[in-house]
Amino acid sequence: MSNSIKRKVAIIGAGLAGTTAGLGLVNAGFDVTIYSDRDRASLRNDVPPTGTAVYFGKSLEYDAEIIEDLYDIGNSSGMSVRIFTGAGEARTPVLAFDSPFKYRAQAVDTRLRADDRLARFLGRGGKFQVRALTPQDVDAIAADVDLTLVATGKGGLSSLFPADPDRTAYAEPQRHLLLATFKGLDRAGRQFAYRSSDGGKHNWFNIHAEFGETFFGPYLHKDIGATRAFIGFAKPGSPWIELFKSVTDTQSARDVVVNLYATYFPEDATLIEQLRPLHEDPHSWFLGAVTPTARRAVATTANGHAVVAIGDAAISFDPIGGQGAQTAVIQAASLIRALKTHKGKFTYEWLQDQFDKHWDHRGEAATEVTRLFLGDPKYATHAELLFPAAAVNVDIGTAFLGLLSEPRPLLEVQSREEIIKFISDLAGEPAENVLAKFKSPRQFTRAQSLESAAVPS
Ligand SMILES: Cc1cc2nc3c(=O)[nH]c(=O)nc-3n(C[C@H](O)[C@H](O)[C@H](O)COP(=O)(O)OP(=O)(O)OC[C@H]3O[C@@H](n4cnc5c(N)ncnc54)[C@H](O)[C@@H]3O)c2cc1C
Repeated sequence: MSNSIKRKVAIIGAGLAGTTAGLGLVNAGFDVTIYSDRDRASLRNDVPPTGTAVYFGKSLEYDAEIIEDLYDIGNSSGMSVRIFTGAGEARTPVLAFDSPFKYRAQAVDTRLRADDRLARFLGRGGKFQVRALTPQDVDAIAADVDLTLVATGKGGLSSLFPADPDRTAYAEPQRHLLLATFKGLDRAGRQFAYRSSDGGKHNWFNIHAEFGETFFGPYLHKDIGATRAFIGFAKPGSPWIELFKSVTDTQSARDVVVNLYATYFPEDATLIEQLRPLHEDPHSWFLGAVTPTARRAVATTANGHAVVAIGDAAISFDPIGGQGAQTAVIQAASLIRALKTHKGKFTYEWLQDQFDKHWDHRGEAATEVTRLFLGDPKYATHAELLFPAAAVNVDIGTAFLGLLSEPRPLLEVQSREEIIKFISDLAGEPAENVLAKFKSPRQFTRAQSLESAAVPS
């Protein structure tokens, strides 16, 4: 097929969303140019990852439509959840559960994922231009191509796409974030057994009812390989915010995380103390906050050209529910399926129809799961019933964690009656029997020191 009859696509932004769409479209026979404000080396080495970007199950299947799975590090098989309340003398364990996933999860550095996609994109004839585009540039580019995708993330060019008030639940960030990557526990397995049925292959999610949450799990760093990712989520007013603000480099990120666990989650302190900073990557940490926002993702430029936002530029999530990267690759893969078969022009109406389908299929449910994990008052009954039920019955924990992979079932489980039925169906006995078995733990098991964890010879 000659190049002249290929349909032309411009993609602005070379993060995970832009490079995923770019590779998928080149593979599908489109003539694609990616515009990026950074060159390839800078995208890989001069910025932090956009997030931990764990793919939980289903999104791996969509990603496989774009690129083969290149990574055997960073995979995880379940989650150990612990909930606490109070501080100091009044600190009390509330409940815990440790459930396997019914899927595989994978946490790979977004810089590596994007770079691997870009390498293949270029190898297959994709074009790459380094330019920071303005809305005027987008208008001019859109005039010259059949389709323009805007994949510039939460900030860049978002003024083209106003927030959709009907689909946006919050006007401000719900958490202050600290992301950091560490080495030191990358090869640990048995040491994690006090929390998890599958050692170091389970992620940890510690919830402090008043102050916020921490996530800790296996991660593939772009240069170092097997590492551990930490994300701290501080609620508004939490003392953790000041702690996070004191982070200025990789060493202080490590010290703050060690301090946080020592003070609020001392059961894990012995293990966490073994973390070492990633001095090799000065961008292995960042502070942030996301206002969860669903945008009107199809826009018209000054001269009337329809353009569509993908990834964070379309919907940005608080990362607590792990939905952003997953939704980005699902949106890209679904759009490519539709683009391949559509013979007519990519009009505003056609693009809007595709985005509405994406919202119905994933966007809305991913937004709701994020609200559930944020502890939004809308989901207070879910927390009240599902957490103790998960502590009693491992399958309920697994089903709850299944929402990270496939959030849609949550839309069907909204009322107290529906939650009770959900629990009863999974447990094979009435939910009230399940909940009656729940007992608050007096204390949680603790990590042992390295010496005492050693098997006596
Ligand atoms: C702490 C944290 C943890 C997370 N954990 C998870 C998780 O577990 N699971 C999950 O699914 N998601 C997670 N996410 C979300 C995930 O990381 C993002 O949704 C995803 O990486 C967004 O990719 P993107 O390509 O849309 O945006 P970006 O990665 O922001 O890429 C946008 C690109 O566009 C470029 N650009 C911007 N403006 C211009 C311009 N004018 N011209 C040219 N180029 C431009 C930028 O430089 C950048 O390279 C997390 C996010 C955070 C913050």
